Amino acid sequence: MARQLAPRSGAKPPPSPDVVREIHGRLRRAFGPLDAPVRRDPIEELILTVLSQKTSDVNRDRAFEAMRARYPPWEALANASTAALADAIRPGGLSNTKAPRILAILAEIREREGSLDLSWMHAAPSERVREYLLALPGVGPKTAACVLAFSLGRPALPVDTHVHRVARRLGFFGERVDAARAHDVMDSAVPARLRISMHVGLIRLGRTICKPGRPRCEECPLRDLCPTAPLYLAGRLRHGHELARA
Ligand code: SF4
Repeated sequence: MARQLAPRSGAKPPPSPDVVREIHGRLRRAFGPLDAPVRRDPIEELILTVLSQKTSDVNRDRAFEAMRARYPPWEALANASTAALADAIRPGGLSNTKAPRILAILAEIREREGSLDLSWMHAAPSERVREYLLALPGVGPKTAACVLAFSLGRPALPVDTHVHRVARRLGFFGERVDAARAHDVMDSAVPARLRISMHVGLIRLGRTICKPGRPRCEECPLRDLCPTAPLYLAGRLRHGHELARA
């Protein structure tokens, strides 16, 4: 069973375990099976997650396919020039930021391992994997959670931009909670066996109903469980400026 973190002083507690299970059940009923994406090698998932930053899945996948086509062996990718890699991954956006980040990660792994093989992670404890990933340049808790969840099948709940927004509106944490704390709160509030599917369900809700700007609370399956819904429905939250009274 998940151990709930004590709320920080002045903060409201996250939803109770019963409410968390109800949220999960309703998401599954609304969106069908909340299956994780196809499982990839740790190194693939790691680089794919870097490419996913601030872009759509379609453009991320285009960038990933173009990158793999140009540099089939990982060693070839690690030896690429920043400019050439940026050119290859341009379909994914922010290529001038992502290319040096990818090369720095690969260089650090090669320095540590003498190769780009991360298959040892399959047999390693989750905490060791998480610490290893978080010590790579530019790798934060979301990327580490994506590798744990989607490559290794471990109980992790990546908090991306959609999950962060929806979970905040649902009262899991407050406005100023950073990414690391958000991951801690979600891990403590959501039982291990529900974490990956909860991630998938919250993303689906965030993309279709609980969108940035004004969410469509009228049609949300979680409306009666959501502390923010009455404020939106009463027009007390302004488009794009949450918690600002209209
Ligand atoms: S009720 Fe509204 S704010 Fe709450 S989760 Fe649903 S869409 Fe988002």
